[in-house]
Amino acid sequence: MTTETETVPAFSLLIGGTETPASKGRTYESIDPYTGQPWAVVPDGDTTDVDRAVAAARDALNGPWGRLSATERGRLLHRLADVIEREADQLADYEVRDGGKLLREMSGQMRGLPDYYRYFAGMADKLEGTVIPTGKSNYLVYTTHEPVGVVGAITPWNSPLLLLTWKLAAGLAAGCTFVVKPSDHTPVSTLAFARLFEEAGFPPGVINVVTGWGPETGAALAAHPGVDKIAFTGSTGTGIKVGQAAISNMTRFTLELGGKSAQVVFPDADLDAAANGVISGIFAATGQTCLAGSRLLVHEDVAEELVAKVVARASTIKLGDPRDPATEMGPVSNAPQYEKVLSHFASAREEGATIAYGAEPAGELGGYFVRPTVLTDVTPHMRAVAEEIFGPVLAVSTFHDEDEAIAAANGTDFGLAGSVWTNDVHRAHRVAARLRAGTVWVNAYRAVAPSVPFGGMGASGVGRENGLEAVKDFTETKAVWIELSGETRDPFTLG
Ligand code: NAD
Repeated sequence: MTTETETVPAFSLLIGGTETPASKGRTYESIDPYTGQPWAVVPDGDTTDVDRAVAAARDALNGPWGRLSATERGRLLHRLADVIEREADQLADYEVRDGGKLLREMSGQMRGLPDYYRYFAGMADKLEGTVIPTGKSNYLVYTTHEPVGVVGAITPWNSPLLLLTWKLAAGLAAGCTFVVKPSDHTPVSTLAFARLFEEAGFPPGVINVVTGWGPETGAALAAHPGVDKIAFTGSTGTGIKVGQAAISNMTRFTLELGGKSAQVVFPDADLDAAANGVISGIFAATGQTCLAGSRLLVHEDVAEELVAKVVARASTIKLGDPRDPATEMGPVSNAPQYEKVLSHFASAREEGATIAYGAEPAGELGGYFVRPTVLTDVTPHMRAVAEEIFGPVLAVSTFHDEDEAIAAANGTDFGLAGSVWTNDVHRAHRVAARLRAGTVWVNAYRAVAPSVPFGGMGASGVGRENGLEAVKDFTETKAVWIELSGETRDPFTLG
């Protein structure tokens, strides 16, 4: 239920199909980062609410949801996709108000969500086991893939529903139930989204949502012994805590974490296309994407020309109201993130980087606006090169040859994504193979699809989301051995 108190709507938790306040009755306000004003009130849940939600998810798993056939699960996922399609504009509006991202980007994202549910709907009844030959003629052995169980999904603030969908679509196809904990900065779209499940025909308790300010609810979910798997997206620091909490209960986990991805531009590249890709990689979404191409590695022969193109375009990026279709960059999404970006501007100056453009707040707009920023003359140990900023800050360095470019690109603990810009087909494949990253684009940046695995190497995470394999991560494989001969065997040998 949404109740209007003057102009600020209030939202409820969803537990076991019932909209409910937090058990202690506490609430907090969600802030619109464009206006800086509270725009919605949401429940401030705690560990009691997490306990209630996990119990509801378990009941659904052991109850009506667990009894559905795989084909019926697929059918419900298709229906959900239809409902989301109808509600896409409303969901996009919630995401923009909570997170300040551009309406045009979020509208596209929301209209794309149904594709994920439809892709995985088709897989629900194709999770086939295998009959396995063993060399033992008295056994028939087959495998089955059972749902892993109750999944705790913990999501960040930058694309709440897309990143939740990357977990839900595959997990629901596999037969799991969910307790979702969205970021405290962007709670609303997830609370609203979860209500759509009832209309699509899902039994109560398949999806439960607990919101709460600060780390308490997320930490309680990660450490909950009633959770069978944690699917987490967020920063590497939090991901380590989540993994440690999960493993203490032998809870399975996948972690989609941060990045410091490199765009590598060779001298034979189409420099206009590369400049466009660099702009898209670091300034779209105000740089607040895990796959941001935050490091530009450019061959020394074309560095000056490419940087000039990037700076020229950066200086014309239109900052402003995320709802205005002409706006190209909205505000930084929340106060702590804004402070973090400003601290990087200060350290870039202190550490001696050249400010080719930006590195300051966009004072005329107030709020959390910053200018798109291009730093040159950077060295590997500068903060802007070594750390994920999660803001519109590009660190540019040059290279002399291919080996040097690859060493620099791989000179980070992260391994989420990267790109190669070249018109030499041999080089494109050679470099793509040598980049240590879960995704490599060639002459492109920032493309994802339901059928394509996404995830990181090294400090960028554990596991992959999307693609055929993702659904298996929401299952346990069971091997079943059937004795065929009926003969008594020696009890003191291994069969
Ligand atoms: P964050 O790590 O601060 O928070 C992520 C989620 O974890 C939030 O819901 C938060 O409330 C919760 N949380 C906080 N402390 C917790 C704890 N101790 N235990 C359990 N949960 C806890 O990340 P953020 O600032 O919301 O998001 C930005 C980060 O997410 C960036 O590092 C970005 O690269 C990463 N990210 C990764 C991907 C990917 O697919 N690899 C996608 C988007 C964002």
